Amino acid sequence: MNRRAAGRAGRYSARDPMELLLIEDEPRLAGLLVRRLGREGHRTTVATTGPEGLRLAAAGGWDLAIVDVMLPGLSGMEVTRALRRAGSDVPLLMLTARGAVEDRVEGLRAGADDYLVKPFAFAELSARIEALARRSGSGPRLSFGPVRVDPQAHLATVDGRELDLTPKEFAVLKDLLWAGGRVVTRAELKRSVWGFQFDAPTKVVDLYVHYLRRKLRRAGAADLIETVRGVGYAIGRSGPPDRSAPPDPGVTPP
Ligand code: CA
Repeated sequence: MNRRAAGRAGRYSARDPMELLLIEDEPRLAGLLVRRLGREGHRTTVATTGPEGLRLAAAGGWDLAIVDVMLPGLSGMEVTRALRRAGSDVPLLMLTARGAVEDRVEGLRAGADDYLVKPFAFAELSARIEALARRSGSGPRLSFGPVRVDPQAHLATVDGRELDLTPKEFAVLKDLLWAGGRVVTRAELKRSVWGFQFDAPTKVVDLYVHYLRRKLRRAGAADLIETVRGVGYAIGRSGPPDRSAPPDPGVTPP
Protein backbone atom coordinates (compact mmCIF):
# COMPACT_ATOMS: atom_id res chain seq x y z
CA MET A 1 0.00 0.00 0.00
CA ASN A 2 2.90 2.33 0.74
CA ARG A 3 4.36 1.67 -2.66
CA ARG A 4 1.11 2.47 -4.28
CA ALA A 5 0.52 5.62 -2.28
CA ALA A 6 4.02 6.86 -3.02
CA GLY A 7 3.71 6.09 -6.71
CA ARG A 8 0.49 7.94 -7.07
CA ALA A 9 1.98 11.05 -5.52
CA GLY A 10 -1.37 12.67 -5.04
CA ARG A 11 -2.46 12.30 -8.63
CA TYR A 12 -5.27 9.96 -9.48
CA SER A 13 -4.27 7.15 -11.74
CA ALA A 14 -6.50 4.43 -13.14
CA ARG A 15 -3.64 1.98 -13.32
CA ASP A 16 -1.20 0.72 -10.78
CA PRO A 17 2.10 2.53 -10.97
CA MET A 18 5.06 0.27 -11.53
CA GLU A 19 8.22 -0.06 -9.54
CA LEU A 20 11.04 0.03 -12.08
CA LEU A 21 14.74 -0.68 -11.80
CA LEU A 22 16.92 1.14 -14.34
CA ILE A 23 20.52 -0.05 -14.67
CA GLU A 24 22.15 2.69 -16.74
CA ASP A 25 25.48 4.46 -16.27
CA GLU A 26 24.78 7.55 -18.38
CA PRO A 27 23.53 10.11 -15.87
CA ARG A 28 21.77 12.34 -18.39
CA LEU A 29 19.78 9.52 -19.95
CA ALA A 30 19.00 8.00 -16.55
CA GLY A 31 17.78 11.34 -15.18
CA LEU A 32 15.63 11.97 -18.23
CA LEU A 33 14.05 8.53 -18.07
CA VAL A 34 13.34 8.83 -14.34
CA ARG A 35 11.52 12.11 -14.95
CA ARG A 36 9.53 10.90 -17.94
CA LEU A 37 8.58 7.59 -16.32
CA GLY A 38 7.63 9.51 -13.20
CA ARG A 39 5.21 11.57 -15.24
CA GLU A 40 3.58 8.30 -16.30
CA GLY A 41 3.16 7.40 -12.65
CA HIS A 42 6.05 4.96 -12.29
CA ARG A 43 8.74 5.03 -9.67
CA THR A 44 12.21 4.34 -10.96
CA THR A 45 15.33 3.43 -9.01
CA VAL A 46 18.66 3.86 -10.81
CA ALA A 47 21.75 1.69 -10.49
CA THR A 48 24.83 3.02 -12.30
CA THR A 49 27.07 -0.06 -12.32
CA GLY A 50 26.56 -3.71 -13.21
CA PRO A 51 27.25 -5.09 -9.71
CA GLU A 52 24.98 -2.53 -8.04
CA GLY A 53 22.25 -3.29 -10.56
CA LEU A 54 22.57 -7.01 -10.04
CA ARG A 55 22.43 -6.63 -6.26
CA LEU A 56 19.28 -4.47 -6.45
CA ALA A 57 17.62 -6.62 -9.11
CA ALA A 58 18.30 -9.83 -7.20
CA ALA A 59 16.75 -8.32 -4.08
CA GLY A 60 13.43 -8.45 -5.96
CA GLY A 61 10.27 -6.40 -5.70
CA TRP A 62 10.49 -4.89 -9.18
CA ASP A 63 7.74 -4.91 -11.74
CA LEU A 64 10.29 -4.51 -14.51
CA ALA A 65 14.03 -3.97 -15.02
CA ILE A 66 15.58 -1.87 -17.80
CA VAL A 67 19.20 -2.89 -18.34
CA ASP A 68 21.81 -1.14 -20.48
CA VAL A 69 24.32 -3.46 -22.19
CA MET A 70 27.45 -1.34 -21.67
CA LEU A 71 27.92 -0.97 -17.95
CA PRO A 72 30.94 -0.64 -15.68
CA GLY A 73 31.79 -3.66 -13.56
CA LEU A 74 29.49 -6.20 -15.17
CA SER A 75 27.87 -5.90 -18.58
CA GLY A 76 24.11 -5.92 -19.00
CA MET A 77 24.46 -9.41 -20.49
CA GLU A 78 26.28 -10.67 -17.41
CA VAL A 79 23.74 -9.03 -15.11
CA THR A 80 20.89 -10.64 -17.03
CA ARG A 81 22.48 -14.09 -17.10
CA ALA A 82 23.29 -13.95 -13.39
CA LEU A 83 19.74 -12.88 -12.57
CA ARG A 84 18.17 -15.68 -14.59
CA ARG A 85 20.58 -18.22 -13.13
CA ALA A 86 19.50 -17.06 -9.70
CA GLY A 87 15.91 -17.80 -10.68
CA SER A 88 14.67 -14.22 -11.07
CA ASP A 89 11.79 -13.90 -13.52
CA VAL A 90 11.58 -10.10 -13.45
CA PRO A 91 10.49 -8.81 -16.89
CA LEU A 92 13.67 -7.41 -18.41
CA LEU A 93 14.08 -4.88 -21.19
CA MET A 94 17.60 -4.50 -22.55
CA LEU A 95 19.00 -1.30 -24.04
CA THR A 96 21.45 -2.08 -26.84
CA ALA A 97 23.70 -0.04 -29.12
CA ARG A 98 22.46 0.86 -32.56
CA GLY A 99 22.91 -1.80 -35.16
CA ALA A 100 24.49 -4.38 -32.91
CA VAL A 101 22.50 -7.41 -34.03
CA GLU A 102 24.75 -9.76 -32.05
CA ASP A 103 23.97 -7.76 -28.92
CA ARG A 104 20.26 -8.18 -29.39
CA VAL A 105 20.46 -11.88 -30.07
CA GLU A 106 22.85 -12.38 -27.17
CA GLY A 107 20.61 -10.29 -24.91
CA LEU A 108 17.55 -12.39 -25.69
CA ARG A 109 19.58 -15.57 -25.20
CA ALA A 110 20.86 -14.26 -21.89
CA GLY A 111 17.28 -13.98 -20.74
CA ALA A 112 16.08 -10.50 -21.71
CA ASP A 113 12.38 -10.40 -22.65
CA ASP A 114 12.76 -7.58 -25.13
CA TYR A 115 15.28 -5.00 -26.27
CA LEU A 116 15.31 -1.43 -27.43
CA VAL A 117 18.00 0.05 -29.66
CA LYS A 118 19.63 3.31 -28.57
CA PRO A 119 18.83 6.06 -29.29
CA PHE A 120 15.11 5.54 -28.86
CA ALA A 121 12.04 7.72 -28.56
CA PHE A 122 10.52 7.79 -25.12
CA ALA A 123 7.13 6.82 -26.54
CA GLU A 124 8.67 3.59 -27.76
CA LEU A 125 10.20 2.79 -24.38
CA SER A 126 6.85 3.47 -22.79
CA ALA A 127 5.08 1.18 -25.25
CA ARG A 128 7.62 -1.62 -24.70
CA ILE A 129 7.24 -1.33 -20.93
CA GLU A 130 3.48 -1.51 -21.29
CA ALA A 131 3.66 -4.54 -23.57
CA LEU A 132 6.08 -6.36 -21.29
CA ALA A 133 4.01 -5.64 -18.22
CA ARG A 134 0.94 -6.88 -20.03
CA ARG A 135 2.61 -10.08 -21.15
CA SER A 136 4.08 -10.83 -17.74
CA GLY A 137 0.85 -10.02 -15.98
CA SER A 138 2.76 -7.76 -13.59
CA GLY A 139 1.15 -4.69 -14.91
CA PRO A 140 -2.09 -2.95 -14.96
CA ARG A 141 -5.42 -3.37 -13.39
CA LEU A 142 -7.34 -0.98 -15.52
CA SER A 143 -10.50 0.59 -14.26
CA PHE A 144 -12.33 3.84 -13.93
CA GLY A 145 -15.70 4.17 -12.25
CA PRO A 146 -17.92 1.32 -13.44
CA VAL A 147 -15.61 0.40 -16.33
CA ARG A 148 -13.00 -2.34 -16.04
CA VAL A 149 -10.65 -3.77 -18.61
CA ASP A 150 -8.69 -6.97 -18.25
CA PRO A 151 -6.08 -6.95 -21.04
CA GLN A 152 -5.07 -10.60 -20.52
CA ALA A 153 -8.62 -11.90 -20.79
CA HIS A 154 -9.47 -9.29 -23.45
CA LEU A 155 -12.52 -8.45 -21.40
CA ALA A 156 -14.16 -5.06 -20.86
CA THR A 157 -17.07 -4.65 -18.45
CA VAL A 158 -19.40 -1.93 -17.24
CA ASP A 159 -20.76 -2.61 -13.76
CA GLY A 160 -19.69 -6.24 -14.24
CA ARG A 161 -21.54 -6.69 -17.53
CA GLU A 162 -19.45 -7.54 -20.54
CA LEU A 163 -19.07 -4.88 -23.19
CA ASP A 164 -19.08 -6.16 -26.76
CA LEU A 165 -16.14 -4.34 -28.36
CA THR A 166 -14.21 -4.85 -31.56
CA PRO A 167 -10.45 -5.36 -31.09
CA LYS A 168 -9.73 -1.75 -32.14
CA GLU A 169 -12.37 -0.32 -29.79
CA PHE A 170 -10.97 -2.46 -27.00
CA ALA A 171 -7.45 -1.21 -27.71
CA VAL A 172 -8.54 2.44 -27.66
CA LEU A 173 -10.34 1.98 -24.32
CA LYS A 174 -7.37 0.13 -22.85
CA ASP A 175 -4.91 2.84 -23.93
CA LEU A 176 -7.05 5.60 -22.47
CA LEU A 177 -7.41 3.77 -19.16
CA TRP A 178 -3.76 2.92 -19.13
CA ALA A 179 -2.86 6.61 -19.42
CA GLY A 180 -4.47 7.14 -16.02
CA GLY A 181 -5.87 10.63 -16.55
CA ARG A 182 -3.15 11.81 -18.91
CA VAL A 183 -4.37 13.08 -22.27
CA VAL A 184 -3.57 10.61 -25.03
CA THR A 185 -3.02 12.37 -28.33
CA ARG A 186 -4.77 11.19 -31.44
CA ALA A 187 -1.38 10.47 -33.01
CA GLU A 188 -0.41 8.30 -30.03
CA LEU A 189 -3.65 6.37 -30.25
CA LYS A 190 -3.28 5.89 -33.95
CA ARG A 191 0.27 4.64 -33.60
CA SER A 192 -0.55 2.35 -30.73
CA VAL A 193 -3.79 0.87 -32.07
CA TRP A 194 -3.24 0.96 -35.82
CA GLY A 195 0.54 0.71 -35.94
CA PHE A 196 3.32 2.78 -37.46
CA GLN A 197 2.64 1.69 -41.04
CA PHE A 198 -0.94 2.85 -41.13
CA ASP A 199 -1.15 6.11 -43.05
CA ALA A 200 -4.85 6.95 -42.86
CA PRO A 201 -5.73 10.30 -41.29
CA THR A 202 -5.93 10.57 -37.51
CA LYS A 203 -9.67 11.04 -38.07
CA VAL A 204 -9.98 7.28 -37.88
CA VAL A 205 -9.26 7.64 -34.16
CA ASP A 206 -12.20 10.04 -33.76
CA LEU A 207 -14.46 7.57 -35.51
CA TYR A 208 -13.52 4.72 -33.19
CA VAL A 209 -13.85 6.92 -30.13
CA HIS A 210 -17.33 7.74 -31.40
CA TYR A 211 -18.21 4.02 -31.68
CA LEU A 212 -16.74 3.35 -28.28
CA ARG A 213 -18.66 6.20 -26.64
CA ARG A 214 -21.89 4.93 -28.13
CA LYS A 215 -21.35 1.46 -26.71
CA LEU A 216 -20.32 2.83 -23.33
CA ARG A 217 -23.36 5.11 -23.23
CA ARG A 218 -25.70 2.22 -23.97
CA ALA A 219 -24.04 0.23 -21.19
CA GLY A 220 -24.63 3.07 -18.74
CA ALA A 221 -21.22 4.71 -18.80
CA ALA A 222 -21.88 7.96 -20.69
CA ASP A 223 -19.38 10.83 -20.58
CA LEU A 224 -16.50 8.57 -19.69
CA ILE A 225 -14.18 9.74 -22.45
CA GLU A 226 -13.31 13.40 -22.45
CA THR A 227 -12.36 15.22 -25.64
CA VAL A 228 -9.43 17.57 -25.21
CA ARG A 229 -9.84 19.82 -28.19
CA GLY A 230 -7.01 19.90 -30.64
CA VAL A 231 -5.05 17.34 -28.60
CA GLY A 232 -6.76 14.04 -28.01
CA TYR A 233 -8.75 12.11 -25.45
CA ALA A 234 -8.62 11.29 -21.76
CA ILE A 235 -10.39 9.24 -19.13
CA GLY A 236 -10.38 10.57 -15.60
CA ARG A 237 -8.40 13.73 -16.32
CA SER A 238 -10.21 15.72 -13.65
CA GLY A 239 -9.86 13.10 -10.93
CA PRO A 240 -11.61 10.01 -9.66
CA PRO A 241 -15.24 9.40 -10.55
CA ASP A 242 -17.93 10.42 -8.04
CA ARG A 243 -19.50 7.04 -8.05
CA SER A 244 -16.34 5.07 -7.70
CA ALA A 245 -16.10 1.35 -7.20
CA PRO A 246 -14.08 0.49 -4.07
CA PRO A 247 -11.88 3.49 -3.31
CA ASP A 248 -8.23 3.01 -4.11
CA PRO A 249 -5.93 3.04 -1.14
CA GLY A 250 -3.63 6.00 -1.21
CA VAL A 251 -5.93 8.22 -3.24
CA THR A 252 -7.28 11.34 -1.69
CA PRO A 253 -10.25 12.66 -3.60
CA PRO A 254 -9.83 16.33 -4.49
CA1 CA B 1 26.12 2.44 -20.81
